[in-house]
Amino acid sequence: MMTQATHIFEAANLGTAPFTFLGHADRGRGNLTGCAYCGTAIRHEFLIAGADDRKFVVGSECVYKTGDAGLIGVAKKAERAYRNAAARERRVASGKAKRISRRIALLRERREKARAILAKMPGDVRNALRVHRAPGADLDIRMRLVVSDMRMRVGRGIQLSDKATDWLLSIARNAFAVKAEVPEVSYRTHVVGKLASIKCDEDYGWRMLVEVQTDAGSYKIFGSVPVVFHDTMNKTMDKLNDLARAAYNAGDEASPFYSRMMFERPELRKFIGMEVSFDAQLIRSARDASFGFFKRPTKFKAEMPSLETIANWSREAE
Ligand SMILES: [Zn+2]
Repeated sequence: MMTQATHIFEAANLGTAPFTFLGHADRGRGNLTGCAYCGTAIRHEFLIAGADDRKFVVGSECVYKTGDAGLIGVAKKAERAYRNAAARERRVASGKAKRISRRIALLRERREKARAILAKMPGDVRNALRVHRAPGADLDIRMRLVVSDMRMRVGRGIQLSDKATDWLLSIARNAFAVKAEVPEVSYRTHVVGKLASIKCDEDYGWRMLVEVQTDAGSYKIFGSVPVVFHDTMNKTMDKLNDLARAAYNAGDEASPFYSRMMFERPELRKFIGMEVSFDAQLIRSARDASFGFFKRPTKFKAEMPSLETIANWSREAE
């Protein structure tokens, strides 16, 4: 049987072999202690206990010096686990810091873009963005949300489209429009107004909003687009296509109607602003006296745009 060499910790009178590894701790940069075996200042301390239960702290170097495989194995494992955890923590922290600085950079970029957009924005558009705060402005909740959404987009550095700008300006105009009440009469009324909007949905088909200007202000009425309007449209398109065919056959490329193809019916929204007149029964809305509905329109007339204008619309759409 071989005589085992005396354990260096036992030789240094730190305790009796066998020694047990109890744990590792990082004391931090400014809080060093001395290794019980060699006296060196250490940051990473390894707590060891002898068989006699005396406890002491040494540095990793001195753990490795012992040649005590059992002790070294567990100490190394503990040290490795600690370093991995610390590295992970650092990675998480730097990832978070990167995300935060990216976010700050993004916000700064948006703010600068928003400033640039606002600086170039015409005054009336800028004022329209703040219409909800203008004294005397009358804005319903829906329009309030639309404008606030546009404000938010500009705040994020997104340029308003031309269509959005037009809408915004019309909302601002309407907020100050003096409103007249929809006449409440039992007989059918002759209405002359402007097409304010037109839309189609599955259940009701094409419907339109007509704004009627009176001496007292304006009111709006909503109802079905008369079939006559579609007929008028079809006739207009037939006329336009006859002119197109004639210009094409004559090789008259300078003609505003010259086209290789048939003109397509333009989007009905193109007709917004067109003057319309008709007779109808009006019904005032219970919620808003300046809003109402029209029923069974007859004698519908529309001041259709010129054929040249419609031809141009079709060309733009190509
Ligand atoms: Zn030491």
